[in-house]
Amino acid sequence: MGVVVAVVVAHVVDVVEQTRRKETKTMKKIIRLLSICMILTILLGTMTVYAVDNNDIVDTSNHTYTFQEMEEDIKLLTEKHPDKISVSTVGTSVDGRALYQVVLGNKNAKNAIYIQSTIHGREWMNTWIMLEQLELCCDNWNMIAPHGITYGEVFNNCCIYLLPMVNPDGVTISQLGIEAINREEIRKNLYNMPGANNPKRWKANADGVDLNRQFSYGWNTRIDVNGPASENFNGLKAFTEPEALAMKSAMAQREFVAAITYHSMEGAIYWDLGQTGVLRDKVKALATHCHNITGYKYGEVSPCKGLEYNYMNFVENTPMVCIETGTVQCPLPYSQFNKLWKENHMLFVALAGCYQ
Ligand SMILES: [Zn+2]
Repeated sequence: MGVVVAVVVAHVVDVVEQTRRKETKTMKKIIRLLSICMILTILLGTMTVYAVDNNDIVDTSNHTYTFQEMEEDIKLLTEKHPDKISVSTVGTSVDGRALYQVVLGNKNAKNAIYIQSTIHGREWMNTWIMLEQLELCCDNWNMIAPHGITYGEVFNNCCIYLLPMVNPDGVTISQLGIEAINREEIRKNLYNMPGANNPKRWKANADGVDLNRQFSYGWNTRIDVNGPASENFNGLKAFTEPEALAMKSAMAQREFVAAITYHSMEGAIYWDLGQTGVLRDKVKALATHCHNITGYKYGEVSPCKGLEYNYMNFVENTPMVCIETGTVQCPLPYSQFNKLWKENHMLFVALAGCYQ
């Protein structure tokens, strides 16, 4: 009997021991699984942060991209990439908003390209594309660009002088209405101008002057409107507006190998203003590069009316083309954003690559 009890006790001890071992094994398994989970969480977390980090400044989700948001993005991009971009202002708008210039790459590079956007208020989606592209170029700095060298090397040899929003008051009126203008006397004038009942379609600045008709070369060759309005008023003479004067100085600040002005009306490139000789060869080559990069067709130029590219070509002797984005009426709906991005997102690096 004693032996039987001993055997039973031994067996029970054995079973308990086995269970304990099993439990230990299970615990070990659980601990191992937990560790793997923790490592994965940390890794995935890092990856997620990296992915967001890759594109975390310029928000391209469906919303209105305002002057204030652009201003904040420029600040954040400069803080994050002080070695890649530098920022200055070239003037102030009628209603007191800063006219920003961002230089991408080596400011003293042997070649430089001038790019300005959104001289017409309602065409503000182009500013958004410019800022997103700026971030893309900074994030890809060490990646190989289309011409076989890194983005950094491309912009070290040919930098971009970008004026992303040369008419911030017009943009503000188009996006937020006349009530978003700071100064009361300006608001009062604006409410009395033709077009005030449809501020979304505002092209002019806060004085009701179409900034793209302010340039001295060919100024007043075409008169569509006789006084301040939401669009097409040439002003009482050339360069009366602070934004136009700022662009004039910005265009002359150094020699540029190429220049682009971004507008929105239809996907097209305008370049043939009747330039001759070397300038014609240069501007034709520039238009061809832009056509190859964006896929836009060539548009037929309307008669001279004191536009920015009349001035840049014939007074500054710098080849400038006009790129028109979009396929529907401005302001472009968000549904156009991806199309614009697809067509234009490689422009900075691919064009700078052509002027090494
Ligand atoms: Zn325009």
